[in-house]
Amino acid sequence: MSRRKKIYEGKAKILYEGPEPGTIVQYFKDDATAFNAEKKAVIEGKGVLNNRLSEFFMTGLGQIGVPNHFIKRLNMREQLVRSVEIVPLEIIVRNYAAGTMSKRLGIEEGTQLPRPIVEYCYKDDALGDPLVTEEHIAAFGWASQQDMDDILSLALRVNDFLSGVMMAVGIRLVDFKIEVGRIYDGDFQRLIVADEISPDSCRLWDIETGQKLDKDVFRRDLGDLKDAYTEVARRLGVMPKTAPITKPTLIN
Ligand code: C5P
Repeated sequence: MSRRKKIYEGKAKILYEGPEPGTIVQYFKDDATAFNAEKKAVIEGKGVLNNRLSEFFMTGLGQIGVPNHFIKRLNMREQLVRSVEIVPLEIIVRNYAAGTMSKRLGIEEGTQLPRPIVEYCYKDDALGDPLVTEEHIAAFGWASQQDMDDILSLALRVNDFLSGVMMAVGIRLVDFKIEVGRIYDGDFQRLIVADEISPDSCRLWDIETGQKLDKDVFRRDLGDLKDAYTEVARRLGVMPKTAPITKPTLIN
């Protein structure tokens, strides 16, 4: 039995106290949820894939100077990350219309947007993560104006990086969601990218065929979610198609 202290259990991940102060162990579950957990399933191996893919994206972002929480991967399902104070916003960047934007504005899915559009949702499952404006964010004190400038810059840099990485392997980055968190260095605080970046939180379409390679496969019953994520990992060279997906090894 694990002796670690569980800090938080979400829909797709569990956070445990890390071995050093200021660190957290992020465990990727196989649970898939959609529509605010109205639809649920266990997709064996999803956690392993997302652990690897999030490591790949966060490491690449670190290499181009986009600060993020990733420290190192510990095993098949776990990574060591910096502990942050999460800003209660989901930051969505869209390059093509899809999902809720298409529904809300009546724009056909797949329509290229004139420029990347950044949206903010208030992180609250009970409310279904409602779309909010910068007015709400400032008035309710969720983030300062300086934070919002930093968040916009982080979001657009992540977008440029991810779009390029995906395009190189024949995948269109339609949209994605990130979360950011605050870290403190003495009196100085700054924002870094946190949570995860994986096909759970992006829309990824094959450029040639339009095939969906993201969580919409599960949301819309379009096929095998694990096959879709495995294809993304294979193209990125993150995990060979034949790599065995084994049971997790928990660290204590
Ligand atoms: O549902 P919607 O079209 O607003 O989603 C936009 C993007 O944000 C999608 O890539 C989706 O996977 C992601 N998202 C997320 N978590 C949420 C809401 C959206 O990862 N709670």
